[in-house]
Amino acid sequence: MESSQHTLKESISLSGIGLHSGYKVKLNIKPARANNGIRFKLIGRKQSMPALVDRVIDTSLATTIADKDMVFSTTEHILGALSGLGIDNATIELDAPEVPIMDGSAEEFVRLLQSANRKTQQSKRLFLKIIKEITYEEGDKKIRILPHNGLRLSCRIDFAHGLIQNQSYSIDISPKSFSTEIASARTFGFLDQVKQLQANGYALGGSLNNAVVVDENGVMNEEGLRFKDEFVRHKVLDLLGDLSLLGYPLLGHVIAERSGHSQHFGLMKELAAHPECWQIVELNKTNENGGMLERIVSSTKNAGIRLRPFWNRPVSSAATCPAAA
Ligand SMILES: [Zn+2]
Repeated sequence: MESSQHTLKESISLSGIGLHSGYKVKLNIKPARANNGIRFKLIGRKQSMPALVDRVIDTSLATTIADKDMVFSTTEHILGALSGLGIDNATIELDAPEVPIMDGSAEEFVRLLQSANRKTQQSKRLFLKIIKEITYEEGDKKIRILPHNGLRLSCRIDFAHGLIQNQSYSIDISPKSFSTEIASARTFGFLDQVKQLQANGYALGGSLNNAVVVDENGVMNEEGLRFKDEFVRHKVLDLLGDLSLLGYPLLGHVIAERSGHSQHFGLMKELAAHPECWQIVELNKTNENGGMLERIVSSTKNAGIRLRPFWNRPVSSAATCPAAA
């Protein structure tokens, strides 16, 4: 676990299309000073907004954040890439309100971010450390977080489709494990639901180039799957990206069963409402055995400046669809 904050050594740029809007989008990611966090802005505009959970306005098809007149949707894969690679401070610039979908995974973001290299910053990283279990449930969907020394994500999905069925995956997140095991897992959807979404004006940029599409016979993409359990691995990517909206790297074990963006948001809402279940800590290297010692930075009273109450904000979380995975 790295104790210092990191940004990028240089900026990166790419372009692609928005999955739901179908817009052509240009995206830059620029280095940022320590304690800036991850921020979104429109190219050519001065104002930026922090990528934080209290800005979430919609979790129905993807995670959308907004502030004043700025809206950015499908934030989860780029945020997963930054979080997975341990980049704390960066500004994401876009010329449209949706992050480009690329190939439906975080692979291209990761490739470019790795080419830009990370830069270690002077400031200490602050972690949100779970000290007591928290659970959020919605029908048969359940997500909980337990104390753990590091960040471990465990996901389970359960679909009636014979190809997917019940898949489980569990991983300790590090830049290495994330980039080799999670980053290239693509989003997926069922053909009939994709058609229905498109009829309703969503997934307009969706194609076999940016999602795994499944019909009654199996995977429609000619190249097949990248992992046998690519579906559940993609759920880990979404979970990691959404959790980064807490504004602090997590120390805990998240166990998500049949969950999606809406339940990730539900868990974060529970976290914000229960400051007795977590602490904000920094890690210090010890001299003797190289192990890490923690120092509690904030008491539960004033902890979570970034986790201020937000539960009165209306958030749209209409029935989720696997295509939004
Ligand atoms: Zn996704």
